[in-house]
Amino acid sequence: MSLVIVGTMAFDALETPFGKVDRIIGGSATYAAWAASNYYHNIKQVSVVGGDFPQEEMDLLADRGVSCEGVEIKKDEKSFFWSGRYHEDMNTRDTLVTDLNVLADFNPVLPESYQDCTYLMLANLAPAVQQSVINQMKTRPKLIIMDTMNFWMEIAMDDLKETMKMVDLIVLNDGEARQLTGQYSLVKAAQQIREMGPKYVVIKKGEHGALLFHEDKVFSAPALPLEEVFDPTGAGDTFAGGFIGHIAKEDDFSFETMKTAVIMGSAMASFCVEKFGPERMKEITDADIRQRLERFSELTNFNQVIYTKENA
Ligand code: AMP
Repeated sequence: MSLVIVGTMAFDALETPFGKVDRIIGGSATYAAWAASNYYHNIKQVSVVGGDFPQEEMDLLADRGVSCEGVEIKKDEKSFFWSGRYHEDMNTRDTLVTDLNVLADFNPVLPESYQDCTYLMLANLAPAVQQSVINQMKTRPKLIIMDTMNFWMEIAMDDLKETMKMVDLIVLNDGEARQLTGQYSLVKAAQQIREMGPKYVVIKKGEHGALLFHEDKVFSAPALPLEEVFDPTGAGDTFAGGFIGHIAKEDDFSFETMKTAVIMGSAMASFCVEKFGPERMKEITDADIRQRLERFSELTNFNQVIYTKENA
């Protein structure tokens, strides 16, 4: 049993209404691994970094049971760099810079021990690389989930559509779902996305929670109402990491387990946004997680009423 996570490990420069940082650790796989490792321990990371990426960051992940054997280090090149600026509402952002650097010609070679994983998470990354990882699996993982973003829709739509045909579940945010389908209604968008390949669709709506779609079933989860969102970077990746981490732990992906996984992912995202970069993910304790899950439970619990007009 193992969970392979593929994605970027990067440097980010961020601007939010609360402040600005020039160069901090980021990347979709970094956030996803931090989140997933709270729920599951046999995680295998696939990524590429330059000689500028701190070894300590990988050591910290290794301490949490994340193997970095599949992280290629290109000593003479620079790591992926992304810069973004958030709008006042924190739900929308502009990408200022995407420097692919090492990612431009990344051709991952999966270590032997990765090739029989049970669960595969394709975090946000070039769709061609996501496909290459699926193709290197000796046996198909039980569940393959993928994330993506507008950047790849703009420059690699054909590859993206091919990758979508190969996965079971896609996670994307409301804006991306609308961009991908041209549908404003998220229900219609999810239906159209399912026709493109994935049987399950999760649409994240920032501070408004997330929706899970499968066949004729829908599950709606709230986001925790937080007084202050400090930096939303990585919220999507920590959501997806927490989601797949819970599924891997349970070794089950029935709709009921997926509903809980949506909450487990939302809990991770609610921590992530409390500080710049992945910092908050590094300090949360078991007690913090337990408390937060209780808050989610309170938020979603209510007494069911059997309504009849006569009793009104
Ligand atoms: P999120 O806020 O969850 O959408 O993810 C933010 C992280 O995604 C940042 O740490 C970036 O380094 C990383 N990122 C930004 N653009 C891309 C991209 N085009 N492909 C892969 N990762 C990216």
